[in-house]
Amino acid sequence: MIAEVVAIGDELLHGSLLDSNSSHIAGELERIGCVVGRFTVVGDEPDDLRAALADACRRADVVVATGGLGPTLDDRTRDVAAALGGQPLRFDERSWQQILAWFERHGRSVPASNRRQAELPAAASALPNAVGTAPGFRLTVHDAELFVLPGVPREMAVMLRDHVLPAVTALGGLTPTVQHCLRVLGPSEALLGERLGDYMHPGRNPAVGVTAAGGLLTVRIVARSASVAGARALCAETAAELRPLLGDWLLAEGDAELPELVLDRLRQSGTTIAFAESCTGGLCAARLTDVAGSSAALLGGVVAYSNAAKERLLGVPRRLLDQHGAVSEPVAQAMATGGRDRFGADLAVATTGIAGPGGGSAHKPVGTVCFALARDGGSKAWTVQIPALGRAFVRDRAVFEVWRALLTEPKGV
Ligand code: ATP
Ligand code: MG
Repeated sequence: MIAEVVAIGDELLHGSLLDSNSSHIAGELERIGCVVGRFTVVGDEPDDLRAALADACRRADVVVATGGLGPTLDDRTRDVAAALGGQPLRFDERSWQQILAWFERHGRSVPASNRRQAELPAAASALPNAVGTAPGFRLTVHDAELFVLPGVPREMAVMLRDHVLPAVTALGGLTPTVQHCLRVLGPSEALLGERLGDYMHPGRNPAVGVTAAGGLLTVRIVARSASVAGARALCAETAAELRPLLGDWLLAEGDAELPELVLDRLRQSGTTIAFAESCTGGLCAARLTDVAGSSAALLGGVVAYSNAAKERLLGVPRRLLDQHGAVSEPVAQAMATGGRDRFGADLAVATTGIAGPGGGSAHKPVGTVCFALARDGGSKAWTVQIPALGRAFVRDRAVFEVWRALLTEPKGV
């Protein structure tokens, strides 16, 4: 079952709005077993819109389009879809009653222009919108099933879940897809690509792909099979072959993001944590607090950027700062120990480094980051030379190094 997604709206082409609908729709379609062949983003201009929908319907079995169902004249998806199906618009009384009911529930009067939203291509069936005004519709075009949904992400998501996914499932012909992610830290994307080259040729099942974000690489294994169990088995087989190739680079497996895994580990062992951050500016604490339930483990964090702050807030001895410089293992260690004491945490992690672009030296180039981990019974410090690929990269990568330390700490955290 081949599916395509069409995102409609001039604002998407102007670059003012990010097309998040397509990725949501594609993810859901793939989850139920469609192969998503293509995304198209097109403006509201009727000829372009018509060509985009017609082409998608010729190539795919299922097309899901979003946007351009509003009440204003620049919302043209309805008219174009009707023309494409070679049919006039009809006024759908049932949809109109639902629109009226929606306005009544929200205590608002109904603008006359909203009547347009109850007009559907003559042969289309309406897809009710429980959370907004514009109904969607379903129509057969060039032997493809075309589903048209509103652009508003919340409305789109509810209607996709309630109407489109069940209808596509009922069409049959789905190929279950299973994904498995391996999180890798250490090599460059190119180096990893070379290592996994034998697995990355087009058409392989499972497919193996690599994506990079802030220094963290994700190896995604995507398997298709006649059954979910079969796809799982294929995934597991490839994962087992890749593990030895990844060695120490492999940090974690599965869909969970690293801060979630760190939090799980902390919670399971009942360990509390605090951060003493310089170059990461609070990112470690922020990323951990992105995870619901982080209060079970995170006591707090200090952003100690200046030397004075490191002395005053974390009790780093001036002597260490003078002797070794702020970016040094002894200072990182003192920051971690000071943070641990002040927060009364079981564990504290410190970061201090040179994010750049300025501030580097021959001895400590941009990207030098010192870390320390303090716990009951001692502390340890280490230095990582992060590639100087920009300030954001160095900082993000430093945060990943912290997660690596917490996930690979031999005694467990
Ligand atoms: P409505 O009937 O509510 O007006 P519509 O079908 O006309 O919906 P649009 O006018 O195209 O939809 O978009 C409404 C809003 O939905 C936009 O302002 C935008 O914020 C959001 N939106 C539209 N398309 C997308 C998309 N592809 N990705 C993310 N957001 C989108
Ligand atoms: Mg609109």
